[in-house]
Amino acid sequence: MKLQPRKFLLAAVCAACLGTAFAAPDARIASLAAKEKPALLETLKELVSIESGSRDLEGLEKISDLIAAKFKAMGGEVELIDPSAEAYRMEDTPEKIGRAVRATFKGTGKKKILLIAHMDTVYTVGMLNKQPFRVEGDKAYGLGIADDKQGVAVIAHTVAMLQALKFKDYGTLTVLINGDEEISSPGSRALITRLGGEHDAVLSFEGASVKEDKLSLATAGIASVSLNVTGKASHAGSAPELGVNALYELSHQILQMRDLSDPATGLKMNWTISKSGSNRNVIPASASAGADVRVLKVSDYDRIEQQVQERVKKQLIPEAKVEMKFERRRPPLEATDASRALATHAQQIYKDELGRPLGADDKVAGGGTDAAFAALKTKAPVVERFGLQGFGAHSADAEYVLVDSIEPRLYLATRMVMDLSRNKIGN
Ligand SMILES: [Zn+2]
Repeated sequence: MKLQPRKFLLAAVCAACLGTAFAAPDARIASLAAKEKPALLETLKELVSIESGSRDLEGLEKISDLIAAKFKAMGGEVELIDPSAEAYRMEDTPEKIGRAVRATFKGTGKKKILLIAHMDTVYTVGMLNKQPFRVEGDKAYGLGIADDKQGVAVIAHTVAMLQALKFKDYGTLTVLINGDEEISSPGSRALITRLGGEHDAVLSFEGASVKEDKLSLATAGIASVSLNVTGKASHAGSAPELGVNALYELSHQILQMRDLSDPATGLKMNWTISKSGSNRNVIPASASAGADVRVLKVSDYDRIEQQVQERVKKQLIPEAKVEMKFERRRPPLEATDASRALATHAQQIYKDELGRPLGADDKVAGGGTDAAFAALKTKAPVVERFGLQGFGAHSADAEYVLVDSIEPRLYLATRMVMDLSRNKIGN
């Protein structure tokens, strides 16, 4: 084909004024993404139509069977993993935890790539009726569609695209879909951390925002401290000296642990709950309190737990029994050079091949994610929010994803797996 002289000139001038030549998208990948879009919407409909609250074992069994079948059909080696036995047990951890789906695809290369998302939601059984799947304009609505069923769908259709491309240059492509994210991943956290350590890169598919499309490199760590003090009841009027005042001991503990926040590191610890006593005229035999802890660095997580453990030993009333529990709800995800390089590469693909802006945020924002567990014991890059742009997570009335973000995200995830496999990132 011959370019008309004027058009050619225009193109040349434009390339010059932009500084870099705009590389067109890989036509094959772009057309595959377009082809997968209606299929992905169909998958979303299937996923959203199964209620799968974190404590709904029946629903989780159904949805994990469906997801397992999808990856099996694509040739993956699929395992359904019951993570209950190795669970990190917190106050609200259920006895039995929903299964995780792990799918492994073997390639001909060396690189090991992990893709993660979760299939559980915050919703309870029966809420689906009010929010069935529907597409209206550029929005696809449904319960848990943004958080995080879109993540499962994007991963499944990215794998489908890689297969259609006959792309096998990775060593191992692992998919992990867990069913306990919304209760702080008590069961799957250890598995996710292990897998993070065994892979060369981790892409996590929580959704991106509709307001600002950006990847996320850092999230806050969340912990809780609970104190339980046991004393001895006695008549407050006639024999207070025979009692052990649990409220006095608790008050002492709270006051001696009121200054552990550290603005310099962003560490925050605040006492937020307390309870004690039963009757005005009885020396309280029990008292309890809870504190909320936020950290930005994994090392601060260790430090604050140690500090609390040390301080709690200093008692006001030696006869009182003080029990302290430090629960690590979620570690922080810290930005690293490796994760920055991976995000920069993704931004380049978006800009150069799709002409779309994509942010990458290394400041802590929003809630915790499983990406942080994946990053705990690895030097590999871990980047969050490869999922679709969406809105309304946990809101129960208008959760949706942007249909227009399906093709670019499928394109991006596919290209990232290709470039990671071919060692083109961070070298
Ligand atoms: Zn989520």
